[in-house]
Amino acid sequence: MTQPYPVTTLRSVADSLHLEDVALETIAQRFGTPTYVYSRAALTAAFQSWQQALAGRRALVCYAVKANSNLAVLSVFAKLGAGFDIVSGGELARVLAAGGSAGKVVFSGVGKSRTEMRYALEQGIRCFNVESAAELERLNEAAGQLGKKAPIALRVNPDVDPKTHPYISTGLKSNKFGVAFDEALALYRRAASLPNLTISGIACHIGSQLLDPAPVAEAAGKVLGLVDQLAAEGIALDHIDLGGGLGIRYQDETPPSVATYLAPLLEIFAGRKEELCFEPGRSLVGNAGLLLTRVEYLKHGEEKNFAIVDAAMNDLARPALYDAYHEAVAVKASEVPAQRYEIVGPICESGDFLAHDRELALADGDLVALLSAGAYGMTMSSNYNTRGRAAEVMVDGAQAHEVRARETVESLYALERPLP
Ligand SMILES: *Cc1c(COP(=O)(O)O)cnc(C)c1O
Repeated sequence: MTQPYPVTTLRSVADSLHLEDVALETIAQRFGTPTYVYSRAALTAAFQSWQQALAGRRALVCYAVKANSNLAVLSVFAKLGAGFDIVSGGELARVLAAGGSAGKVVFSGVGKSRTEMRYALEQGIRCFNVESAAELERLNEAAGQLGKKAPIALRVNPDVDPKTHPYISTGLKSNKFGVAFDEALALYRRAASLPNLTISGIACHIGSQLLDPAPVAEAAGKVLGLVDQLAAEGIALDHIDLGGGLGIRYQDETPPSVATYLAPLLEIFAGRKEELCFEPGRSLVGNAGLLLTRVEYLKHGEEKNFAIVDAAMNDLARPALYDAYHEAVAVKASEVPAQRYEIVGPICESGDFLAHDRELALADGDLVALLSAGAYGMTMSSNYNTRGRAAEVMVDGAQAHEVRARETVESLYALERPLP
């Protein structure tokens, strides 16, 4: 059965949209709008599909925190046994505050500071995914100062084209990420010679919103070749990290299931003893969330109709940033005739749109849900136009928990001072 909506636990009950067993209308009444709403059941199901597909294999699923870093989201995954992929010291603090264990954290990113390295070393993270020769030297130095050994993987750049949006492809030679494939061997030798590093694995991450498993399988094949070359030199790796990137349905995409995505990889690594790690972000949270917003005004222009809503590009940046598509649905069935609308926010920028040319039956004050907003929604939000960030709510069965309060205006300038 195909689901009517990309958000997996969203359904229509008596002409009113519910996430799990809670009416979105009730959420808007209790918590106001705009509000991000997440489904615990959808998060759980998404994580379990990874666990099930990897059952019987030595494997670790490290949720990519940057996709959605709310403590409630992190705690759901921590309870399910997840590891975490972080890109800053701040994200490590969140993981620990949410009950995640440092021993299952991998640290990615091209610009790790000394402070972040020390913090991660003190907490005892699982692995640093090192992205340059200079980082390797700095990490060795930082670990030495603390009298510790830093576990490392090199993030290699397998130079495959994931055929995705240019801003979210990361595995091409022209990207800033990772170390060039041809340089990896020399860098591993260098790492082996440094006293304060332990070589633990190898990592790669080729891009995001991947709808075809083939480029990842191609990258995995290349990585495996390197693993064998290293083994021949006496450098044995304990884990192979194949990154994140599995895509989701926003509109009419047909992403592979987790099992289908992993099948060629499991075949490539069949019979090998290394632990397989993955860093999914979007595929775990994207379709577990939506952005709930209310129509402020309907404006009927000569060429276009505008539905001006109380959410804006500061809340959900993806449409403005990547021209991304989010399905927009009216929360309650309406008597009024449907019309084609540009769904826009109140911000003073022409780029402030959430959806183009959508047929919706709307009246002033109606609620609209922007779907598939669980990933890279709240985490990319800003305070542009002195707009407090949206509230966040997590639904769990018939319960709705406010997991982040709406920001107050005073909090937005609390750290500022007028000149004396
Ligand atoms: C962003 C990122 C991920 C997660 O990507 P998704 O497309 O959300 O799965 C994983 N690993 C690294 C290194 C990343 O930068």
